[in-house]
Amino acid sequence: MSLRPVAGYLAELLGRPVAFVDECIGEKAEKTAMALKDGDVLLLENVRYHNEEEANDPAFAEKLAALADVYVNDAFGAAHRAHASTEGAARVVTRRGGKCAAGLLMERELKFLGEELDNPAKPFVVILGGAKVSDKIKVIGRLLDKADVILVGGAMAYTFKLAQGFKVGKSLVEPDKTDVALAALKKAGERGVRFLLPTDNIIVTPVKTDKLDKKGRPVIDFQNPRTNADANIPDAEEGVDIGPATAAAYAAEIAKAGTILWNGPMGIFEDKRFAGGTNAVARAVVDATARGAKSIIGGGDSVKALNKAGLGNQVSFMSTGGGASLEFLEGSELPGVAVLTDK
Ligand code: AMP
Repeated sequence: MSLRPVAGYLAELLGRPVAFVDECIGEKAEKTAMALKDGDVLLLENVRYHNEEEANDPAFAEKLAALADVYVNDAFGAAHRAHASTEGAARVVTRRGGKCAAGLLMERELKFLGEELDNPAKPFVVILGGAKVSDKIKVIGRLLDKADVILVGGAMAYTFKLAQGFKVGKSLVEPDKTDVALAALKKAGERGVRFLLPTDNIIVTPVKTDKLDKKGRPVIDFQNPRTNADANIPDAEEGVDIGPATAAAYAAEIAKAGTILWNGPMGIFEDKRFAGGTNAVARAVVDATARGAKSIIGGGDSVKALNKAGLGNQVSFMSTGGGASLEFLEGSELPGVAVLTDK
């Protein structure tokens, strides 16, 4: 957890020495900080060794702020948390009349997830996947105001299918979220947003094994992967990816897009047998980008999936925030952003 090895690497990247202090507050840190000359770089130890960091303890924030004249935050991925280093210390610096600025990465995140999506080039195609509807329902609600087309994949799609009265077999679903799913479908209809769900799936027969995973749960063996072109999934089967017809239909929508926002994989992409849908979407997003569409990847597993497919550098922007990106897309004010005086 120590940042000491980072100091060496940072020095290599910067081509100049980087001093390191094994504390982030207190006399030694302050003395070294005060002795810095123009252009000197000092890295302090990981703030999370102190419980006061996540508690946003005011006294701890004062001690952090004692080191600085100005405050710059470049940690977008932590900006959704009001911690001492992301929020408290900035407040103290502001109170003293100092500037609190967004770093260059933070600035790009705010530009792409904010301004670019406020006025997207049309058609605006949103691709949502991943495990749960409940994690993304607020984002869906917000995007329904802006999107022209929403493409849904991942396990999330099965909660929508269940809500529509289809059978989903043993697929991962949230039966208590079918009402929210129906409300989203209704809103989409009212707004004229095309809301597409998978028409075919890759299904498997899940078989419990004697082995246990790290968390002590039985390891499930996914047997007999095959395409299911029926709208219903048989009782004993589980949906693990979108099928080829869905992937092709989604790719055709993506090809027409002016702006693309993608958050969440189309299937259990960690297993390469079920990465086909996610890879097809990744390919379509990259091709659309090459033709001039703006593509914004909303962080987390979609970024992992793109990198895994070796396509990470071929989109307009990949967010470095997971939870922070989602909260920002939901329209929530992030405490680590709100506190900045210069964005
Ligand atoms: P999220 O963090 O909500 O974006 O979810 C990402 C996770 O969803 C990944 O670990 C995927 O393996 C998982 N996932 C996607 N599709 C499915 C599916 N059909 N069944 C189970 N898990 C899925």
